[in-house]
Amino acid sequence: MRIKAIETQYKGYRFRSRLEARWAVYLDSLNIKWEYEKEGYNLEDGTPYLPDFWLPEVEMWAEVKGTLFTEEELEKAILLHRGLGFPVLLLEGVPKCGVYLATTEGVKTKGGMDEYVLTNYHNYPKSEGRFYSMPSDEDFECGMFNDTEVATNKAKSARFEHGDNGVVSEDDDLGEGRVSFKERDLGPVTGWALTVSITKLAKDNNFKHCPNCGHEFQLQESHGLYFCKYCSKGGGLKKFAEMIAKKINQGAGIK
Ligand SMILES: [Zn+2]
Repeated sequence: MRIKAIETQYKGYRFRSRLEARWAVYLDSLNIKWEYEKEGYNLEDGTPYLPDFWLPEVEMWAEVKGTLFTEEELEKAILLHRGLGFPVLLLEGVPKCGVYLATTEGVKTKGGMDEYVLTNYHNYPKSEGRFYSMPSDEDFECGMFNDTEVATNKAKSARFEHGDNGVVSEDDDLGEGRVSFKERDLGPVTGWALTVSITKLAKDNNFKHCPNCGHEFQLQESHGLYFCKYCSKGGGLKKFAEMIAKKINQGAGIK
C-alpha cells in the first residue's frame, strides 16, 4: 500500500507534500515568483504531466522529487521541455546549498545538463530572466551567495500544519533535521555521458582526492558531479576533467 502524502498548506496553496511547500518557502525567501501546479499537459508520448512549479521570471518549470530523478522521470522532464520550449529545473530533496541541474533541449543525460545556483545574485532572475549559472572556471562554494543560505535555512525550519489525515508522508523526513536522499541506480546512460563516468575518470587518472585539502571527493556518478565536503566546493563533469588536465599539465612541467 502506498503511503499517502500529507497535504500541506502554505500561502493559500494546498501542496501535495511538505517538500514542495519547503521549495515554495525557499523561492519566497529569494523573492522569486512561483505558481504551483499551474497547468497540466500531455507529453508527446501521451503521458499527462502536471509540473510542480512554474517560475515566470526565469521562464522555467521546476519539478520536485524526494529522491534522485529516475531515468523515466528525467525523460518526462525532457519531453516537457521539448514540448513547451522551457527548461525544467530538477529539485531533488530539500533545498540545499548547491548547484541544481536543468534540462537542456535535445540533451538526454544528466551529464550534459545546465547547472544553476538558485540565488537572486545580481538580481539576475528579475533583470535578466535567468538564474546564476556557474562559469566553468569557477567552483561553487556555499558561502558565495548569502541569500541561498538564508533561504535554505528558512525552507528547512518552516513548520506546516498537518493535513486532513495526519499520516506521515515519505517526504516528511526533517524530524531530525536530516535529509533522506537516497542514491539510486539510474540505469544505462544514453548520451555522451555514457562514455564519461566521473568515478572511472577519477580512478583512471588517480584523481580521487581534492587537490586543495587532500580529502576524498564525493562523486555522484548519476549526475556527473563532484564535491569536497571539507572545502565545500564542487561542480560538474566538465570542471572535474579540467582539473585533471591541469594536474597532468603541472606534472609534466615538474618532469
Ligand atoms: Zn577539499
